[in-house]
Amino acid sequence: MENRKKVIITERIDQEGIKLLQKHLDVDISFNIPREELLAKIHEYDAIVVRSATKVNEELMSLGIKLKAVGRAGNGTDNIDINEATRRGIIVANTPDSNTMSAGELSIGLLLAQARNISQANVHIKSGQWERNKFKGVELYNKTLGIIGLGRIGSLVATRMKAFGMNVIAYDPYISDERFKRFKVEKKNTLKELIQESDFITVHTPKTKETTGMIGEKEIEFMKPGVRLVNAARGGIINEKALLKGLKSGKVASVGLDVHEEEPCFNNPLFELDNVIVTPHIGASTIEAQVNVGVTVAEQIINALNGEIVPNAVNLPAMHRDELAIMKPYIELLERLGKIYYQLHKDPIEFVNINYWGNIAAQDTKMSTIAFIKGLLEPVLEDKVNYINATLLAEQRGIGIEQRKMNENYNGYLDYIEIKIKTKDETFVLAGNLSSKREGRLVKIGGYEVDVNPSKYMLLIQNIDVPGVIGHIGMALGEENINVATMQVGRNVRGEKAMMVLNIDDEVSSKNLEKLMQVKNVLWAKGIKL
Ligand code: NAD
Repeated sequence: MENRKKVIITERIDQEGIKLLQKHLDVDISFNIPREELLAKIHEYDAIVVRSATKVNEELMSLGIKLKAVGRAGNGTDNIDINEATRRGIIVANTPDSNTMSAGELSIGLLLAQARNISQANVHIKSGQWERNKFKGVELYNKTLGIIGLGRIGSLVATRMKAFGMNVIAYDPYISDERFKRFKVEKKNTLKELIQESDFITVHTPKTKETTGMIGEKEIEFMKPGVRLVNAARGGIINEKALLKGLKSGKVASVGLDVHEEEPCFNNPLFELDNVIVTPHIGASTIEAQVNVGVTVAEQIINALNGEIVPNAVNLPAMHRDELAIMKPYIELLERLGKIYYQLHKDPIEFVNINYWGNIAAQDTKMSTIAFIKGLLEPVLEDKVNYINATLLAEQRGIGIEQRKMNENYNGYLDYIEIKIKTKDETFVLAGNLSSKREGRLVKIGGYEVDVNPSKYMLLIQNIDVPGVIGHIGMALGEENINVATMQVGRNVRGEKAMMVLNIDDEVSSKNLEKLMQVKNVLWAKGIKL
């Protein structure tokens, strides 16, 4: 049996996560292992899974000579020295998304419940009454929803409430305009603007110095009469005293709260009001969220050890699951395109320009740029390069990297990624995009236009553009027993040089290449592996 990689789990995670790890790795379940014991055996493991108690510090990482990944089941990473991990090229990943859907759906539940008095009506009918006129609600349709904090949960609430026909606006000074555009949410530059225009307001920020009490008396004064509020983020972001006053005065029609200034909380004056709907911090309490934590941490570890994209790596640009779904084929394509240059040329690179054109320019492209750099260095550094250290290693080699975004289309392409690799004397140009089936395509190489779905093994041949060369090459390929899956010829000017790009089934040997080079009018032939 092949030598499987090893992971140690030092704190409890869901059984589903353990099962998934066991499918791919040798798993040592050592819940609550004493520190000394862990330090004594950490050198055996490629990865470690922890919650919040195990300290993954310099001491542990220096002894963990094989460590490539640290998985944190849960959100915070206070117990992990991220900088040290980054220096060592160790991927640290947590599971921040695992309860996002649950918390978002609960927030929406609190919006709907107060708009239609669902909880009150429920208590009413069960107490033997039937007074329907007491429960006249309001529709969400055509109302303005103000979201404070357009992060993971805020954006999820935004897209879902747009489906309800709400006009969604948001205030979040810490994110790019691109993110507002991506979620088709109108950006408000100040909290005051958002508050003044909203019929419903929901908060989705972390609790920080700045956000504690960010909705207070003054803010409630600016609100529309009859406004309805939700807080399923953290207790105290809406000041409870000010809220009580607003509710009593009738300015605030109702509120839904999952989180409270003091938790647990039993005797809160807010609970005495009919138009206050409360839940005991149950945002993450779903079957799915609990399983998700275990499964997600397992997935991150498996991806990290396989050298694949680790969506929740905290020492890499963060990506939401939806963003990743959009970007994954581009990330994979760019990593493959990255591998081409050093298999063709040896000139030291001075600069890499990655230009994103069209729709792709509106996406978060940090990860695809990193993937290109990782691919670029792989033929030289092999498994010493990973997503974490790729940029750093490129910098150390004096390679400048710049990504640029152009919102307009390129030459009729809706999406187009053009990469210019500059050496002292020349510029090597590559470009790629996705087909309608979302397959990665190589559409330009060395300045020649082609259209190929790059395969694992490829053959590149430069020749003089004269009749008969293709036939001769075809024969030589046959003689050398090289099976061709697809073949494309790119040329810029008739009679000058042309480039043949072939997808082939197996790797070509240097003997094969020598034979091909002997074909008349062939200038060079190179095999590459992507
Ligand atoms: P996130 O980090 O993805 O998003 C938070 C957003 O708030 C970011 O976009 C940030 O830029 C923005 N922000 C920060 N300060 C701001 C400010 N002063 N004004 C406006 N925007 C600001 O976080 P998330 O995963 O979406 O979580 C949001 C909140 O929900 C957090 O407080 C989290 O603890 C809470 N949460 C609650 C439950 C629950 O059980 N009720 C479950 C999960 C998360």
